[in-house]
Amino acid sequence: MVLYIGVDVGGTKVLAGEVTRAGTVVRTARRSTPGRRVSVASVEDALTEAVLDVAAGRRIAGVGLAAAGFVDAAGERVMFAPHLPWAGERVRERLSRRWGAPVALDNDANCAAVAETAFGAARGSSSALMITLGTGIGGAIVMAGQLVRGAQGMAGEFGHMQVVPDGRNCECGMSGCWEQYCSGNALVRFARAHLDPGPSILTDLCDARPEQLTGPMVTAAAEQGDPVAGQAFAAIGEWLGVGLGGLTSAFDPELVVVGGGVSAAGDRLLEPARAALARTVVGAGHRTPPQVVGARLGPEAGLIGAALLSRSARWAGSARSARTARSVRGVQTIGAGDYRSGVIKPRRRRPDRGARGSS
Ligand SMILES: [Zn+2]
Repeated sequence: MVLYIGVDVGGTKVLAGEVTRAGTVVRTARRSTPGRRVSVASVEDALTEAVLDVAAGRRIAGVGLAAAGFVDAAGERVMFAPHLPWAGERVRERLSRRWGAPVALDNDANCAAVAETAFGAARGSSSALMITLGTGIGGAIVMAGQLVRGAQGMAGEFGHMQVVPDGRNCECGMSGCWEQYCSGNALVRFARAHLDPGPSILTDLCDARPEQLTGPMVTAAAEQGDPVAGQAFAAIGEWLGVGLGGLTSAFDPELVVVGGGVSAAGDRLLEPARAALARTVVGAGHRTPPQVVGARLGPEAGLIGAALLSRSARWAGSARSARTARSVRGVQTIGAGDYRSGVIKPRRRRPDRGARGSS
């Protein structure tokens, strides 16, 4: 079987997995990434260990990297990553040489969107927005069945659109960014600020210490009927919908897919979001708002999408071609643009031979 590997390269861990043509993860390996303070070499060593562990001696046909950071438009470099040491290195080419296999590189939100479009909640949709609610907001844009990366590869950074002038300070250096009001951090901030001093489910869960509160605690408390936890999701859901109203006015997608840890709350989050979207989108009352649905593929979406990107490359047909290119030209120069222009959906229909034959 031809081996394609997807790797989620996060701030605390690397998760590599063999991904089948049908998008199933069949074998995984995990390594810790000790963070920004460590060297580029040690992160790349951790990546290499995880990839070789999954390969288990087999020939690798392609590797896709889903990086938690800014990837340039060509898919060559990680320009900046808050929790990884890369800063402009030609990561794709370097790792391709090291592994003797074609490598595709993109940011994690784009990879998750590719996976959800091919195998998950956005399957069959040609225009979708992907929103990932974790500590912040990740985003990706799919239009006409293609990822939209923008001129510099930075499209989809929805979390840093200003929604409140002079609002809360953001890590990005600006203030009033959307993710300050709608994210896992915002959820926890709300719950801490409104924590009941008397007994409650939420108070019990955090031993009456607001600083100990976590997002999963708020989710669990909401499920058990805790009123403050319920209000926290209503508030975050409202902000989600207001932001999506603006994005829908801009992009007019068929579908919005909401993933990330906060989306585990399901309709508790999505219902207030749908209501606020329908209210705030341009032409409200005269149009059908896009569907707002939860992601389906869970935390492995990034690595599944990355593996799919490595498959879709014209040049990614074989490791042999990569080795040939390297031996012929000295330095391996696989065209970065090729896979980036690929259609991201797997073929769902076979060509109609009858129609072609009769023309
Ligand atoms: Zn910001």
